[in-house]
Amino acid sequence: MAHPRHEFVRARAGSACEYCRIPAAVYAGPLTTEHIIARRHGGSDRDDNLAFACARCNLHKGPNIAGLDPETGELTRLFNPRIDTWGDHFEWSGHILVGRTPIGRTTARVLAMNEPAIRVVRAALLLEGVFPPIEPS
Ligand SMILES: [Zn+2]
Repeated sequence: MAHPRHEFVRARAGSACEYCRIPAAVYAGPLTTEHIIARRHGGSDRDDNLAFACARCNLHKGPNIAGLDPETGELTRLFNPRIDTWGDHFEWSGHILVGRTPIGRTTARVLAMNEPAIRVVRAALLLEGVFPPIEPS
């Protein structure tokens, strides 16, 4: 069953995953409303703790709220779409999602944002000219 705030969360996100930016219109699976800070960690059910996420990002994120920066090994919190700006932490290099900061690198790793299956999808979308999407400002 969809979260009661799903329509609001979807519209706020511009109908694209707030982590890997895949647009709902071209994603093969569902995009869902997820809790940024998982409820088991005390995260609320309010709008400021909800994000629109593709099933792939949501699956890999699970209840994680942090990870180890692949460059430094330091414990680092994950990207929070409600307080962080996507473009500050990530950028595209073709169809590869690159973390620009410890938060970006850690999130890209924990959410497996460059696993082969999604890279193939992005590469195809790039050729079609429908990816990457324009970032909301
Ligand atoms: Zn995603």
